[in-house]
Amino acid sequence: MREQEIIDMLARLASGSSPELLAGIGDDCAVISKNDRLSWLVTMDTLIEEVHFDRKWHAAGLLGRKCVAVNISDIAAMGGTPVFVFLSLGLPAGYDPRWLEDFSQGLAAACKEFGCLLAGGDTVRSPGGIVITLTVLGEAASDQVVLRSGARSGDTLWVSGTLGNAAAGLELCRRGRADAPRLRGLVMAHLNPSPRLELGRRLAQAGLAHAMMDLSDGLATDLAHLCVQSGVGVRIDSASLPASSSLREAALLLGSDCLTWMVAGGEDYELAFAAAPDRRQAILTTAAEVGVPVTAVGIFDERPGVRLVRPDQAGIGKIEEDISYEGFDHFS
Ligand SMILES: [Mg+2]
Repeated sequence: MREQEIIDMLARLASGSSPELLAGIGDDCAVISKNDRLSWLVTMDTLIEEVHFDRKWHAAGLLGRKCVAVNISDIAAMGGTPVFVFLSLGLPAGYDPRWLEDFSQGLAAACKEFGCLLAGGDTVRSPGGIVITLTVLGEAASDQVVLRSGARSGDTLWVSGTLGNAAAGLELCRRGRADAPRLRGLVMAHLNPSPRLELGRRLAQAGLAHAMMDLSDGLATDLAHLCVQSGVGVRIDSASLPASSSLREAALLLGSDCLTWMVAGGEDYELAFAAAPDRRQAILTTAAEVGVPVTAVGIFDERPGVRLVRPDQAGIGKIEEDISYEGFDHFS
């Protein structure tokens, strides 16, 4: 079963409707009514040793911070503010207490940085590697929560930051090239991602984003979800996708392809959002105020699917291909 089939089965068997559940399975967070003005935002993410992290190159303190950051990124994607964190930690017998202390310091520093409190959790023995599950509760004004389902035909697709850095950084770690000084930014994008909390909040408060999500499984897969939820498709121009100069350098060094990293590489934790074309200037101004670059990379339309327009093999003409779901699938 693919990841989506597993989610669909669980949703069919165990979910239902409740007047308090404003948005359930299928968005970055569940949205639950808190009072007549505010909603709770609830998200959960698991990091598993040798699947999501490798202790050979992932320092414990940075891993502690990353666990918080990737969950905060889902709160950012709804335009919310993080409030409480719950941690479930599975540790193998004979774990290193210094590792645990460094991990805890990183986690605590991230909670402080993002303004949330650890409010509970669980610790268990793991028969294999370390397993870390975090739940984050955030909140937002109910009428400002940005779902994945609001994109309209004619909207512009925007992304924050640059794409593909974390995928390139992971590849540098795996191939033993993580110490190349000029490529350190890519490695840190994998080890220590920065969620776009302030940008998400500002876009939501100003009502600029019709739909929004964070990029965790790669543009091709994440946008396919957003398009299905919104009942639209999107056409992306490869030439407009924002790449850092170090990404190109890493691609040359490793013999890899920048575009594959940008489109299919996961863990960017940038925001992708849909907005009316006439809000372009307001979006650029908001992004400049929070110091995060944003780039218009595509246009939503009524044709289903995520289509990438890129130069053909000869480099003369252009081809358009459907790249829906070609990002990371946890089970394929
Ligand atoms: Mg997400």
